[in-house]
Amino acid sequence: MSEIKFINKITDIWDYPKISTFNNKVNDNYFDFLNETTKSKEMRLYIHTPFCKSFCYFCQFFKEACPTDPEKIEIYTKMVLKELSFYAEKEYFKNVKISSIYFGGGDPAVLPVKYIEDIVEFVHKKFNVAEDVETTVEGNILNLLDENRIDIYNKINVSRVSFGVQTFKESLRKKLLLKPSLNDIDNLIELLNRKKIKAYTIDMMFNLPDQSYDDLYFDLNKVISYNSDYVDTYGLNLYPNTKFFDAIYKNKKFDIVPSKERELEMNTIINNFFKEREYNQVLSVTYSKYRTEPNKALNHYLHGGEMLGIGPSARSYIFDKNYRNVCSVDQYINKIQNGLPAIEAGNALSDRDIKIRKLVFFPTTLKAKAEDIVFYNDSKEKLDSLVESGFLEYCGEYVNVTTKGKDWVGNIQKYLYDDNHIKNEFSSFITSVKQGRSGYNQDNMGVNKKG
Ligand code: SF4
Repeated sequence: MSEIKFINKITDIWDYPKISTFNNKVNDNYFDFLNETTKSKEMRLYIHTPFCKSFCYFCQFFKEACPTDPEKIEIYTKMVLKELSFYAEKEYFKNVKISSIYFGGGDPAVLPVKYIEDIVEFVHKKFNVAEDVETTVEGNILNLLDENRIDIYNKINVSRVSFGVQTFKESLRKKLLLKPSLNDIDNLIELLNRKKIKAYTIDMMFNLPDQSYDDLYFDLNKVISYNSDYVDTYGLNLYPNTKFFDAIYKNKKFDIVPSKERELEMNTIINNFFKEREYNQVLSVTYSKYRTEPNKALNHYLHGGEMLGIGPSARSYIFDKNYRNVCSVDQYINKIQNGLPAIEAGNALSDRDIKIRKLVFFPTTLKAKAEDIVFYNDSKEKLDSLVESGFLEYCGEYVNVTTKGKDWVGNIQKYLYDDNHIKNEFSSFITSVKQGRSGYNQDNMGVNKKG
């Protein structure tokens, strides 16, 4: 067996098989499963807020400028409730228990907090909700900095607040169009601690342009000084034909440019940094001083659990179907107003896809029981090759990602893909570039109009 060598680091994969508007059109029968009875199961609920008050340079997530007209936000919130009802009333959901509610975006903290409260209340009224439901709310620091908002989050039992700092280097924050100041970050953390919010996660980024190795150490030392429950660290994901890509590589707006070599080196630095300080690495990108497990909802999803996504661009994984809502607020409102599902693309997984999906997700969780991920001879052969090459190890009944493997999680995942999905992803990416769309959602997020 020849040794596997990875050359260019790939960022971790959280979605499989990837959905593409070019390759995954849906037919009229796609949602027939909603009329079927299902055995009792837990489900993760994701609600996307597609608005931001300012746009960070690197961001590929679907969002639009936050409307100045409060009526539009009200209409949007009503559509969220309507989409929730669309599902809640279906036979399929009779035996579903919502185990977690996640408000992501965009920036859910631009919604008046009353709307968040209304949505949570509505979910409890319309669905079976687990007694120990986890409710997580993301938000931009500037909009989370509001005593009343945090009081309401406590009142509705929010279990975790999650927000992005990305870097503490002030000059870089300005270049990346990150609006909150370092004081704002301090003030938010003081507020969350004072209000005794149950948990919070700080997101950081690495391999940023103009981020030196010293800057990275500065960021890491600073972020652990806050003692947050979790720290997430994400490598920069750069898409060609975006304004940010051009600013870095064509217009030379930064002195230090991101590279695959830097991404790898910085990833090793981060892993070692947290290990030396006895943090638990609970996911490939997540570290915690006090907790040994990642948040329950994400863990459940990564082990094959179902997820219902509400709002524009939200992804769902239900009944072995992986689909995404339209990436446009107007189209979303229009479809929901007309009583239609707001879907724009989706696939239906074969038995083999379902099993390979678990295999592909396992490296992000860093370990899995062999019996939960090995179903096919070719997968077993791939795992054996990864073990022989030092990326994985067998440990009793478990397969673990090794220290070396922790630097190559995305590559291990790609290696475990089925060939046809590699081809699909590649063809979608090429079509996106040719059509001047973003490779992430095939929409126009951050895309340079010149193409
Ligand atoms: S990173 Fe968050 S706050 Fe910044 S533009 Fe993207 S969704 Fe909005």
